[in-house]
Amino acid sequence: MDLLNTLVDKGLRRELPTREEALAVLATSDDDLLDVVAAAGKVRRHWFGRRVKLNYLVNLKSGLCPEDCSYCSQRLGSTTGILKYTWLKPDQASQAAAAGLAGGAKRVCLVASGRGPTDRDVDRVSETIRTIKDQNEGVEVCACLGLLSDGQAERLRDAGADAYNHNLNTSEGTYGDITTTHTYADRVDTVQKAHGAGLSACSGLIAGMGESDEDLVDVVYSLRELDPDSVPVNFLIPVEGTPLAKEWNLTPQRCLRILAMVRFVCPDVEVRIAGGREVHLRTMQPLALNLANSIFLGDYLTTEGQAGKADLEMIADAGFVVEGTDQVTLPEHRTETAGGGCGSHEAAGCGSHDSAGCGSHEGGGVCGTPAAAAAPAGEPRTDLVAVRRRGAGTDLAPNA
Ligand code: SF4
Repeated sequence: MDLLNTLVDKGLRRELPTREEALAVLATSDDDLLDVVAAAGKVRRHWFGRRVKLNYLVNLKSGLCPEDCSYCSQRLGSTTGILKYTWLKPDQASQAAAAGLAGGAKRVCLVASGRGPTDRDVDRVSETIRTIKDQNEGVEVCACLGLLSDGQAERLRDAGADAYNHNLNTSEGTYGDITTTHTYADRVDTVQKAHGAGLSACSGLIAGMGESDEDLVDVVYSLRELDPDSVPVNFLIPVEGTPLAKEWNLTPQRCLRILAMVRFVCPDVEVRIAGGREVHLRTMQPLALNLANSIFLGDYLTTEGQAGKADLEMIADAGFVVEGTDQVTLPEHRTETAGGGCGSHEAAGCGSHDSAGCGSHEGGGVCGTPAAAAAPAGEPRTDLVAVRRRGAGTDLAPNA
């Protein structure tokens, strides 16, 4: 297909595809899907080989948020029965982080619900970052605390944070339909503050909220312009008790096309499959590793993921390898230009605190228990959604 040859050539040259080309990827047929995956896979392997970076979420503070993000089970008025707790102590957070690192993660993503941190919250998180770094040599730490005020990104950097996550989530044009308590411009501003402080910026999106193909392309082009080092792609987990609970409109094929489009538009950036991986890609997860070079290990913020051991087995079975702490994630040209020296560090997925993990502070996940019967594509799969009941904030061992 001429389209795919063109996109591969552009991806290898880090050249921006046209909007029409990006839209055409989303419009490809199921018959062409494997060709699309193979083409985007060439770009992925050119920049990242067969490495898969594992990231581990630690939800420092769960629920009780005054904001109204429609996709989020921690939002004001949510009736989802998620864990609710206030700040984990530094040692508790470090213990949770250590479990993820022992499971193979190289980055820990510290996420807290809320509009944004107070200066006292930044002090608290700074102490947690220092504790984690002292107790876990070589760990990368990404903070995801919501909207930042002036000077807060610098303080987090000085405490040892490598990265900051804040997702754009959706296009500027539809942002007001998803959230009313803050704006798209607020989100852009925080990503820029992180960048400006020399932190590795992580910012991504949530697909499946009822947006159009044009919206998806808009947000991915906006992300390319912001130039984050990592782009988490969340697939909405329509959690009962949130306004978007009925938005079951993704299929595994649609998810693969979206990931391929993101890879073509952001070829040399860490593309992470974030929340909703198990729920929406289901048995197609291994194919998606040909597109993304990063995933979350284990559970998400408020929902459970598949067993960490299953994540590792999937990576090995698909012929990929877990990226080690001695390996640099990003291609050399990005590490040279990355502010703050993080080219090799990525963020996790919170930025918007979202569905996948953090960005929205939600999770996607599942499960451990296979679904009883396969439902038609795009049909509700509530059987695959389990609220997190283990790990941080509980007495039970984490999934890692
Ligand atoms: S995404 Fe973050 S800011 Fe929005 S409601 Fe959830 S926790 Fe609050």
